[in-house]
Amino acid sequence: STLSNQIAAGEVIERPASIVKELVENAIDAQATQIDIAVKDAGISAIQVTDNGSGIANDEVELAFQPHATSKIHSNNDLFNVKTLGFRGEALASIAAVAKVQLITSTTGLRGTLIKIAGGKQLQKRLVAAAKGTSITVTDLFYNTPARLKYLKTVSTELNRIIDIVDRLALAHPQIAFTLVNEQRNLIRTSGNGKLQQTIAGIYGRKTAAQMVEIQQNTSDFQVEGFISLPQQTRANRQYMSLLINGRYIINFPLMKAVLAGYGSKLMVGRYPVAVVQIQMDPLLVDVNVHPTKREVRLSKEEQLATLIQQTIAAKLSQLNL
Ligand code: ADP
Ligand code: MG
Repeated sequence: STLSNQIAAGEVIERPASIVKELVENAIDAQATQIDIAVKDAGISAIQVTDNGSGIANDEVELAFQPHATSKIHSNNDLFNVKTLGFRGEALASIAAVAKVQLITSTTGLRGTLIKIAGGKQLQKRLVAAAKGTSITVTDLFYNTPARLKYLKTVSTELNRIIDIVDRLALAHPQIAFTLVNEQRNLIRTSGNGKLQQTIAGIYGRKTAAQMVEIQQNTSDFQVEGFISLPQQTRANRQYMSLLINGRYIINFPLMKAVLAGYGSKLMVGRYPVAVVQIQMDPLLVDVNVHPTKREVRLSKEEQLATLIQQTIAAKLSQLNL
């Protein structure tokens, strides 16, 4: 069957945070080192993502908005060896179908392309002066599908979802400087200097970051590294635990349990650590084709990885005599 058939179709765009996620992932895939995100009304009125990545060539701009158009994988085999965050080629097409989109992009930093699309229809395309990289502005989300607008929660809930997703993307990419601004208010700023502990400071605050301890362990299959809080520096929910596999934030209960198991009986009931665990492993062992948002992944050797995470944390805490 064709490649596009093998790529499970699905709803990628449910809410402002899904748009932010897809646009930021595109910027990361484009090798950006600076990604600036600005939202208005928690993204319902406007979302702007600006990056200094590769840009899109003038003659490829329309293609980028075609459904199932991706520059990232070229064969069915690539589906099982995904190294980029995107690969379905659905996001831009889906976003342009439910909102008004303006994109300015340049591969050179001299001339670039401006394109405007609304409700899937191209309204304008012209050459403009532009910085290297891409800036996408998405306005009037769900203007043509009012029923979907109604499903959105309050502005503060939607904003928290955006903050949460940018937190995880920034934690997964300490070498990229992120900013998130909501109506002139700075919500996130990371340095992009590659130091995970400093990135954590930019997300959870200097004090929290300074109290965390480093973990690191390599085997032939996995490279595990990160920072964890001490058993007494906990939070009331697991939102402060992030598992990042090959630069992708994932949700995986066995691995979350492994982090907690590493603390053994040292955690109080209902308390969770702050933990940022980065895992590098062979992309062939990570199946990201489970769900369109690619958040849930299927892992080969999951049990071995869980054991490794648990033992690494337990060893660190006992080494500290806790
Ligand atoms: P996917 O990321 O799955 O390939 P998208 O719909 O998100 O699909 O993007 C379509 C294509 O547009 C990408 O494959 C890429 O070539 C191009 N593109 C999108 N955003 C950017 C960006 N910020 N910088 C460079 N190229 C981009
Ligand atoms: Mg994408």
